[in-house]
Amino acid sequence: MSEEKSLNFIEEIIEADLAAGKYQSIVTRFPPEPNGYLHMGHATSICLNFGLTKKYPGYTNLRFDDTNPVTEDTEYVDSIKEDIKWLGFEWKNELYASDYFDELYNFAITLIRKGLAYVDDSTSEEIASLKGSPTEPGTDSSYRSRSMDENLDLFERMKNGEFEDGTRTLRAKIDMAHTNMLMRDPLLYRIKHAHHHRTGDKWCIYPMYDFAHGQSDSIENITHSICTLEFIPHRELYDWLIEKLEIFPSHQYEFARRNLSYTVMSKRKLLQLVNDKHVNGWDDPRMPTISGMRRRGFTPQSIRKFCDTIGIAKRENIVDFSLLEFCLREDLNNTALRVMAVLDPVKLVITNYEDDKTEDLISENGPDEAYGTRAIPFSKELWIEREDFMEEPAKKWFRLAPGAMVRLKSAYIVRCDHFIKDENGTVIEIQCTYFPESKSGSDTSEIKVKGTIHWVSAAQAISAEVRLYDRLFKVENPSSEEGDFKDYINPDSLQIIYAFIEPSLQNATTENRYQFLRKGYFCLDKDSSSEKLVFNRTVTLKDAWAKEVKK
Ligand code: ATP
Ligand code: MG
Repeated sequence: MSEEKSLNFIEEIIEADLAAGKYQSIVTRFPPEPNGYLHMGHATSICLNFGLTKKYPGYTNLRFDDTNPVTEDTEYVDSIKEDIKWLGFEWKNELYASDYFDELYNFAITLIRKGLAYVDDSTSEEIASLKGSPTEPGTDSSYRSRSMDENLDLFERMKNGEFEDGTRTLRAKIDMAHTNMLMRDPLLYRIKHAHHHRTGDKWCIYPMYDFAHGQSDSIENITHSICTLEFIPHRELYDWLIEKLEIFPSHQYEFARRNLSYTVMSKRKLLQLVNDKHVNGWDDPRMPTISGMRRRGFTPQSIRKFCDTIGIAKRENIVDFSLLEFCLREDLNNTALRVMAVLDPVKLVITNYEDDKTEDLISENGPDEAYGTRAIPFSKELWIEREDFMEEPAKKWFRLAPGAMVRLKSAYIVRCDHFIKDENGTVIEIQCTYFPESKSGSDTSEIKVKGTIHWVSAAQAISAEVRLYDRLFKVENPSSEEGDFKDYINPDSLQIIYAFIEPSLQNATTENRYQFLRKGYFCLDKDSSSEKLVFNRTVTLKDAWAKEVKK
């Protein structure tokens, strides 16, 4: 974070706390529920929590909030860890809320002994019907006045598995007329005979979110517990439980969820896209998941830059996806290897070039000299981009047209003399003359051309599958539209084409990013094999030559 950047409101709070000597160092945590893959919203929370302890003395824990046995899975635990590491962050401790089940159980007993919790035999419907409304007070449950001994006995028997699911709960005894509905005797424990991914069948009672989250924070001495705005009403209960249990006073702070345009950002919804096969898995390159974006070719730097640029807010809004793409282009422009690939090929034949000759021409590998150069083969027959030829050129057209001259990138200047069409009127071959003395790097021709186009040599080019992606949804905010969000899926979000790519890409790796000159940024997909290369278009390029060819 640069010095001149103003502090966000959480940084202001932390700086005040440190200045007042309230803490010598801070502890934050990232607390995912392992019920899905992480998405860009989580990236925001990760960058915030880990970013704070990079900036200020202290550390960040990774805590799996695994108190709901039904939806959780170790597959998700593993993917979450991989994604955080890939983003470039390190946690101090890897922790699981389920490791605190014994402590949480003892906390519950403490509350019962203090007369602050009771076992309720009501069904969930009965509990809901006595809850009241925001304008009307609730009604005390008839089980509210149970004796401490009876509560202790029943709670232990709940734990021992004597009762069926849903037949009893443990509730905090606060105030059924409280203005905050969450303070009207909230549930602390429910019975659920379910297998847990870590504790197995040891437990058949599980703590509710409100009775696990804040207590876990306290157990870990978290100083600043950061969550999203929907938890504002929970803060009162968070503080109440900590005060009554007399445990470490963690504090909760809320910021606005990160929303991005043209996508959805909820694990539940993303899971539906996966299960209904609208996408090919959690890491489909169209998904806003970290794994999907990684596969698409996003870099950790670009995601961190994006989170840093936008910062955090106290009000919800939708951030334009193009801002993320802007950060991505900025990074890739500085790092991607430059190569040539023709996505929509048409043949170009150089009539005055020797038939069997192949020349190795030198081309730069990257944005600056440090990346070095490589040799690319050049010969009589090339592939060029169909859109780089116009039979009847528009005004200020600087690319190929009958009689027009253009430079072939890193090679020669050519003049179009003739072209051939098939019976459907499609151009199938462009015939050119080349000027041997115009070779890039040693041009003595004195011919001036305004356009430069890319090409690959037909004999050496490799055919590759290229996947072009568009937005996954047709509307900016699918979740706010009428009906099901899936009704707004863009049916054309994936287009598969076959391109001719330069032979050096036979050695492409998934670690590298590539700029296909003038066509965008691409990366090798994991579906590639030695027989078939597959590339994903990460993001389009602002054509560096655009100003020359338009208007
Ligand atoms: P989802 O609705 O996608 O399941 P969640 O909030 O339930 O999201 P958790 O696994 O509970 O997901 O979240 C872990 C952390 O990430 C929490 O601190 C949560 O506040 C934060 N987080 C989740 N989604 C977003 C988002 N869109 N913007 C900012 N932070 C988020
Ligand atoms: Mg959740």
